[in-house]
Amino acid sequence: MMIRLNDLYLCIQGEGCLAGTPMVLIRLHGCSVGCPFCDTKETWANDEENRVPDLHQAQADPSKWCEMEASDVAIAASEIRQGAKWALITGGEPADQDLHQLVACLNACGFLVAVETSGTATGHMGAGVHWVCVSPKLGMPGAKPVLPEVVNTANEIKMVVGKPEDVTKLEDLLERSSFKGTVCLQPMSTNPEATRFCISTCQRKGWRLSLQTHKWINER
Ligand code: SF4
Repeated sequence: MMIRLNDLYLCIQGEGCLAGTPMVLIRLHGCSVGCPFCDTKETWANDEENRVPDLHQAQADPSKWCEMEASDVAIAASEIRQGAKWALITGGEPADQDLHQLVACLNACGFLVAVETSGTATGHMGAGVHWVCVSPKLGMPGAKPVLPEVVNTANEIKMVVGKPEDVTKLEDLLERSSFKGTVCLQPMSTNPEATRFCISTCQRKGWRLSLQTHKWINER
């Protein structure tokens, strides 16, 4: 099965419950959610003009992407993993693609697999993923609903918060779900006002604060 791939590299997870964990980050290409604050907008379009023949060329330019067999993606991840136990499939919106074969290949290579999704697609469900982080993108220009079945089965919800209304939207989502995992609030763009609001809300609700710690150490 072919996978649309934007990038692949060894990182330290900077956000959420698994922060501090070495991971091979597998950035898939394509997303139609349309978040205005997206910091990977170059992954959105599955445009032929930016399609390149191999991963090496895709890695040279954030807007470039390639197609690879799922088994070859897993081999490429294995080659750079050093001691990393985890592979993180992110995007773009990774769950727009059917991830079953990629996850199986990563598992066969001995990886634990984490997926980070906006909750708007189901390509990871039933694939044997070990950790699902839903970062719900509610009311975005792409008008894609956050799906209850994705939220209900997540291990973690990581909500990007720029203003109090974002927490109101999250509370509405939680009320409509049976989610039992960990809620993290992440200040948008490490904005000081949003950070103060996230701290006070986490203290009030017993949620976790997620900071983009990789940016402090100039990591991707
Ligand atoms: Fe960007 Fe993620 Fe929103 Fe897609 S879902 S637009 S990749 S932030």
